[in-house]
Amino acid sequence: MKTAGQYIESLRELNTEVYFMGKRVRDLVDHPAFRPHINSASVTYQIANMPEHHAIATARSHLTGERINRWTHIPQSQEDLVNKVKMLRIAGQITGTCFQRCVGMDALITLYTVTHDMDRALNTTYHQKFRRFLITTQAEDLMTDGAMTDPKGDRSKRPAEQHDPDLFVRVVEKRADGIVVRGAKLHQTGATNSHQILVMPGQAMTEADRDYAVAFATPVDAPGVIFVFGRQVNDSRKWEGNLDQGNPRYGSVGGEAMIIFHNVFVPWEHVFLCGETDFTGTLVDRFASYHRQNYGACKSGNLDVLIGAASTIADMQGTLKASHVKDKLGEMAHLVETMYSGALACSFHSTMLDGGVAYVDPLLANSAKLNTARYYPEVTRLAQDIAGGFPATLPGEQELDNPRVAGFVKKYYQTKPEVDPVDRIRMGRLIENMTGATPIIECMHGAGSPQAQKVVIQRTIDWQAKRQLADAVIHAAPFADHEGPELS
Ligand code: SF4
Ligand code: FE
Repeated sequence: MKTAGQYIESLRELNTEVYFMGKRVRDLVDHPAFRPHINSASVTYQIANMPEHHAIATARSHLTGERINRWTHIPQSQEDLVNKVKMLRIAGQITGTCFQRCVGMDALITLYTVTHDMDRALNTTYHQKFRRFLITTQAEDLMTDGAMTDPKGDRSKRPAEQHDPDLFVRVVEKRADGIVVRGAKLHQTGATNSHQILVMPGQAMTEADRDYAVAFATPVDAPGVIFVFGRQVNDSRKWEGNLDQGNPRYGSVGGEAMIIFHNVFVPWEHVFLCGETDFTGTLVDRFASYHRQNYGACKSGNLDVLIGAASTIADMQGTLKASHVKDKLGEMAHLVETMYSGALACSFHSTMLDGGVAYVDPLLANSAKLNTARYYPEVTRLAQDIAGGFPATLPGEQELDNPRVAGFVKKYYQTKPEVDPVDRIRMGRLIENMTGATPIIECMHGAGSPQAQKVVIQRTIDWQAKRQLADAVIHAAPFADHEGPELS
């Protein structure tokens, strides 16, 4: 397994083509816009090497028997799924933000299972190839970006009907030695600081969309793979200083990027689905369930940090004992534990897939994600309520070095003699950072928009069975009809 330091150093060896604010970025690891996200991803390596988290954050590879980082593991049991959830809460508590590596983990799990199904049904060799790919990923402890979301163009049209055929990733050429792909994937969490990309179709494909039914792996620095890094609210604070970022070490959300595949060659060895449209629906459903399981866990860990910040601010400001503040903090904790319960529940309620892989309960996983999309903004609202308005109007950190006003800023932001006003400002900035637009939008749409979860829930529920339950209850009268007990 790699250490956090080895992971960061390994990124320097890659020749990834990345653009940010109009310029090619050649020093990704040391660039202030990227480094916080790299630090956050490095926690997935760090905790695997920490004795207190070793049991949760590592596993034994079912392929090689070697001890591996759990972010590269294929869950073999209910216990593995539960440990996945526990691991994400721990990492979320350390970073206070997204640590990015789970999309790739879920892509590995999903493609492992779907390639198994395809080989069984179609006599293909995808699974054998995928196992070889997985062994390398585990042995080298690689960070994988799981790339699913296409630009999608006009949402009312299917991939093959779009005005531009590249609006979904597709195969443009099949050669004796491999395929050539073109298209893009958007919102790619942790993509620029991954070692490899695992591309999957983003929706179920029909026969007409055959060229779009493709899954493959590529190194991040393969020719034609181009990254355009996204801008975030207040991101210039990253190169203007430290304190105003709120979470200077780990940043906000996952450092998302657009990935362009401009005629990228992929050897057959790394092609894991090509034209098998019948399997794309299963692939998307499984990936969605595994990834929605996570949201009740990583976001709970993040919100543990926010609850701590809100409680500390209340203490600093002398409001901690006020009954309405205690009530709000309790409400925050209740919402967070409800989110986490869903992640645990879908793991405990697991089943075993054909190839010996533990699979979360899709209904509970989708409910967990929907709860998270709903409760995360509510918890942030309560944190803002408790903190008061000051995080939104704080002076810039440069004023703390401004000889004319620094003393005044500290004097007037100090609440009690024992409170360091700079610490209060720091905590306010953390609350501002964690309750702003970017994490809330990410939490709503990451792992699929709320409507996607509702669709799964609506189609999974056995409505007829529920109606029969109600019918049985109203006809289960303990007394003869209309003959209730005497009223006295
Ligand atoms: Fe992992 Fe959560 Fe980030 Fe998704 S949002 S990659 S589950 S930390
Ligand atoms: Fe996410």
